[in-house]
Amino acid sequence: MSRVYNFSAGPSMLPESVLRRAGREIMEYGGSGQSVMEMSHRSKEFEEIFQSAKSLLREVMGIPDNYRILFLQGGASSQFAAVPMNLMTKSGKADYVLSGQFSTKAYQEGCKFGDCKAVASSKEDNFSRIPLLREEEFRPDADYFHICLNNTIYGTVWQELPDTGDVPLAADISSCILSRPLDVSKFGLLYAGAQKNVAPAGLTIVILREDLIGEPQETTPTMLRYDVMAENDSMYNTPPCWSIYLCKLVLEWLRDEIGGLQAMEQRNMKKAGILYDFLDSSKLFRGCARKEDRSLMNVTFVTGDPELDAKFVKESTEAGFVNLKGHRSVGGMRASIYNAMPKEGVEKLVEFMKEFEKRVM
Ligand SMILES: *Cc1c(COP(=O)(O)O)cnc(C)c1O
Repeated sequence: MSRVYNFSAGPSMLPESVLRRAGREIMEYGGSGQSVMEMSHRSKEFEEIFQSAKSLLREVMGIPDNYRILFLQGGASSQFAAVPMNLMTKSGKADYVLSGQFSTKAYQEGCKFGDCKAVASSKEDNFSRIPLLREEEFRPDADYFHICLNNTIYGTVWQELPDTGDVPLAADISSCILSRPLDVSKFGLLYAGAQKNVAPAGLTIVILREDLIGEPQETTPTMLRYDVMAENDSMYNTPPCWSIYLCKLVLEWLRDEIGGLQAMEQRNMKKAGILYDFLDSSKLFRGCARKEDRSLMNVTFVTGDPELDAKFVKESTEAGFVNLKGHRSVGGMRASIYNAMPKEGVEKLVEFMKEFEKRVM
């Protein structure tokens, strides 16, 4: 067996110790005589897995008691609709910052359900930076203010949160959840698809301040209602059991092997630093995102020559560094270096880039 270094933006690498453990338990979980994949979601065994995944998430992220954790399905993309349907219920207004493709999709979806305003955008710079904010554009009576915290496609991250006053801040944290400590109390709502930093695809995590759970818009499908999901502890219907089980294992890894989110952040800063330092000194490659806004998770870069980019992607793949092709809207390359990417993977990639640079320059 030889495992590649997978730089995919998602689904992405999982920690090897987690995969080994899931492998050991695949035929029989505990003394249950069955796999977690086969288990009733109402069984005692699964109930334990479910509750410990939830309490581990609360512990690792430091989620305050007045926030509910929902384990849903449908991906972050379903939340683009669920957030407005559940929260746009008072003034019927919401403000959005357009910092990339996902935040733009969230905004466009939101427009179906009420009066959404794009209060800032960096589209004219092809989203290579976090937009400049003008607070006079913010609407004080908005039901929420939406941002995408880490822009997966463009490789930018909010270093500082916008000051939205009493307007609840809602954030898509799909590509940065668990990558570093986050002060949950600054947000009204957080959501993330699990497949980047938490678990295999299938699980969508919503962290929601309790007072925001209310009567949703009338036409909201039952499956998208936060009140119904909260009342039923996310078990209104069958939850994504296998993904929740892997989420629990990943959180145990994060807490017990890594040492929590502060230690994770240190690791992630080291890994990203290795790559960014090289990009800043390279004569061939350069980073795409504005320096101040650089993401720790997604590193976008180009040579400036699309043919050379294609050659690099092809040769890196052959060398065991896979999924480095950038998103079509940026071109070039993107190295997604989520939590489970070992430092060694980034070091070896940089070695390969150095060697490539020597060869083609
Ligand atoms: C991947 C991603 C999405 C889409 O997630 P799905 O779970 O596939 O719907 C949305 N937002 C961000 C920031 C992402 O990285």
